[in-house]
Amino acid sequence: MKKIIVLISLLCFISCPGHQTASTFFSNDHKRIYRTSVCDPDRPFPQMVMIPFFVNASQVVPNCETYPKHQTALTMMVFYHHWVKYFGDSDLKIKHALEEVMVTWGTEKKKLKGVYNLKGKKIKDATIIGLTQTASVIWVWEGYGHKISGSSLIHELVHISLRTLNGRGDFDHEGPRCDGWTSEHTEMIIEAKEVLRSFDI
Ligand SMILES: [Zn+2]
Repeated sequence: MKKIIVLISLLCFISCPGHQTASTFFSNDHKRIYRTSVCDPDRPFPQMVMIPFFVNASQVVPNCETYPKHQTALTMMVFYHHWVKYFGDSDLKIKHALEEVMVTWGTEKKKLKGVYNLKGKKIKDATIIGLTQTASVIWVWEGYGHKISGSSLIHELVHISLRTLNGRGDFDHEGPRCDGWTSEHTEMIIEAKEVLRSFDI
């Protein structure tokens, strides 16, 4: 009898949506697609590759070194871990947003007019290293030292998350024009990048 109860509660833990937690990232339900969705150096670029563990998330890569899909997946896991630690995600909105993300990696920085720096100051002609384009589309320059920790991916994921929660990504960051981004978000990014560096990515 005890065994049956344990089994029932175990089954419930696996199948009840109410029990979904961050750890569901690691139950890789879409294995077949991840096996076939790989970067092929002999095919033309850019190529789109599914990001494992994140359901529909994908990345568009300019070459197979920028970046191996498991490095991007690990970055998103580290991001999510820190987001939950700082801000929580009891309704799993952020988790689901991450599962729809498409990251396009660029080898060159972009020039853009009228963007805002971290303190909310408007910059006329800026050289940018990342851009959140829609609720799920991000463009990211490959980063300093060719490391994801040297890129703005974590920063752009904060924009995606704020957009998910507030309907806007808060373009002026800690500046006064738009609510959402706080010093805690900036702190969270620094901490998450520190973790990425410890994995050498
Ligand atoms: Zn930004």
